[in-house]
Parts: sequence; C-alpha cells; structure tokens
Amino acid sequence: MTLYHVVDLQSGEDTIPCDVESCAHNSESCPAVSTDVPAYHPLVLNDTTLVVISVKSDFSQIGAVDSSPDGSVSLSYHSKVLLMDRDCQNRRVLTDLDGINLFWDATQIYTDDDFLYCAGSENNVYNIYRISLSDGSITNLTERFSDSQFMMGVVGRDFVLQQEDLTYPDPSADVATDGWPETTGTKSHVLLNADTCETRVLKSYSSDECNLDLLDASVVDGQYYTVDRAAGTLSTVDPDTGEEHLITDQLPTADRDDHSADYLIEANLNGWLIFYNQPIIVNAETGEVRQRIDLPENLWNGYGHQPQIFLQLKDRLLVDCRYEPYTRTDIAEDGAPFTTQTEQMYLGLISIDDFLNGIPDYTEVCKGPY
Ligand SMILES: [Zn+2]
Repeated sequence: MTLYHVVDLQSGEDTIPCDVESCAHNSESCPAVSTDVPAYHPLVLNDTTLVVISVKSDFSQIGAVDSSPDGSVSLSYHSKVLLMDRDCQNRRVLTDLDGINLFWDATQIYTDDDFLYCAGSENNVYNIYRISLSDGSITNLTERFSDSQFMMGVVGRDFVLQQEDLTYPDPSADVATDGWPETTGTKSHVLLNADTCETRVLKSYSSDECNLDLLDASVVDGQYYTVDRAAGTLSTVDPDTGEEHLITDQLPTADRDDHSADYLIEANLNGWLIFYNQPIIVNAETGEVRQRIDLPENLWNGYGHQPQIFLQLKDRLLVDCRYEPYTRTDIAEDGAPFTTQTEQMYLGLISIDDFLNGIPDYTEVCKGPY
C-alpha cells in the first residue's frame, strides 16, 4: 500500500490528499491510498500532471534463470505508466506494457510535453522507449542497435548514449596481487536524435588512452563534460562539430587507474560546476577554479557526506540537511516483523548562495524518503 503526501515546500505543510471525513487513510476507499503495488515515486510531468512508473517482476522465475547458463531465460516484467493530477487524485493508466522493464529512476525519464521518453529493458536488452502522452502508444527508438548501451542524459533533442565494444577481464584475476584487471576495447558517447533516430559519435574512449572502468564524463543541464584526469583538464564537446572546448586545465590530477578518484559532476549552480567528490568548484563559463567551501557533514550511520542536491527550485536547493536515529520495523518473508536501528533523513531548503559559501542556513521541510 502506498499513501501519498503532498508537502508544500514554501510553508513546510504536509497534507494527505484526502477529503473523506474521519478517514484512517489505510484502505482503498481513501483517495490518497494506492494499492497498485508496486508504484514508485511520482515525478512531475507538467503543471497539472504527475507520472508514476510501476514495475512488477515475477521473481518465481529466478530459479529458471539459474538453470539457464546462457541467460536465455529472463525474468518476466510488467510495467505500467500511471498519470495523476498534481494533488495525487484522478489516477489513470496511460499504458500497460507486458514484457518490458521500465526504469523508474528520474535520470532515465524525459518529456517534451507530447511524449515520455523512458529507458528500460526487454529480454535483457537496454532500450529507449517513446510513449505518446495522448494515446499511450509505444515506439522503441533503439530497436536497430546491437551494442550494449545506457543513457547518460540529454543535450538538446539528442539522448547521450554510452555504447560499448568491450572485452572483459578474466573474473578469476586476483585484485590483491595483480591489481584491478582492466577492461579493453572502446566506449563511445553517441548522440541519438529523438525525432529522426539518427546517431552520431560525440566522443570515443579507447583502453589505449584511458581506463575504461573510470570514465570521467557527465551530462549536466543539457551540457556534456569530459575530464582528462591525468592532465587535469575539463572540457565540453560541441554536439554539432564534435570539437572539444577546454574549460580549465587546473583540476586536481589523478592516476588513470586510481579507483578512489571520481570526477562526476553533481550540478551547475549559478554557473559553478559542483563535483560529488572533488575539493574544487569550476566556473563553466570563465574556467575559474575555486576551493569548495564545505557545509557541515551529514552523518548517516557513521558515514559522513556533503548534503546531496535532490531538487533545484530557482535560487534554492532541496537537500538532505539532518539525520536522526530511529527504529524501523520491516516484515520478513515469513511474515514476522523485525526491527532495524537506522537513521531517518530530513530534507531542507537552502539558498544556492549559502550552499556555495558553506553556510548551513536550512529551512527544514519534511522527512526524506529513507
Ligand atoms: Zn483518507
């Protein structure tokens, strides 16, 4: 059972969207309850509508996968795309897709008002699907592709796909004595046009030039960025000409095989690129590099981390701002309840200026999803 809450990020008011008098919000008769399980987080489609991707898989077939050494027997999936009004009411099924496993991660779902573009898989093959918002009809945009791939983001009307032509190392290699075994071949970042389905290569990486297990490329706010960690350079690539434009050569450098170094970009805040795990920020326009001013760390079950950005709302960010110990009760497979000591996340708003200047002036709004 899912119970929807609507939280007003201005006032922090947390409402259950139900107008039934003295309702306990625990059965199907409550308009805020969905028994369509599993239904995941609603995502904003437009001013009036939310979308929910709900995927059922048949785990009874896991045994069948084990007994099929070539992997030809795959789990069966059933996906639904649900729409509802912004107050979580008027829920309806846009389309029902048998045999398709749609990914419900917000980074794998895009819309242009006419269509929903979702990544997903069918018979273990990764695809990008275009789903009509008017009649629910579905088109597989990557049907003719044979390579293994996944979507990194979008640039204009193009999806950025990573396509791979790889030879994997012997899985029995001893990491302790031989070091990390390396994957060889090429990885290419390819643009797939959403309208014409034409493709063109944006940038290719070969195992002769870099460690393919440690590619430092990101798509943030419609822009593609690539890092050469050995040279300490950050560049963008022009999607029309394929030309690389250097932003800076002043990044901290790292060895090509250093698995602890990570250059993924988390966000572009007022023109400043923030990395998940680098002590600097970079101005995307001017190339200026500054030390990052950290906020006080969040401690989750003993691990420290910088507040993570969940949403950008004009000049403010929704981040995890606090954790509090609590005891969670779950139900085991045999039906018996069991408890876990963990920590509850709380979400708060912070201005982009305060975030960039390390000033922890949060307005706490609600509990987080974990
Ligand atoms: Zn209710």
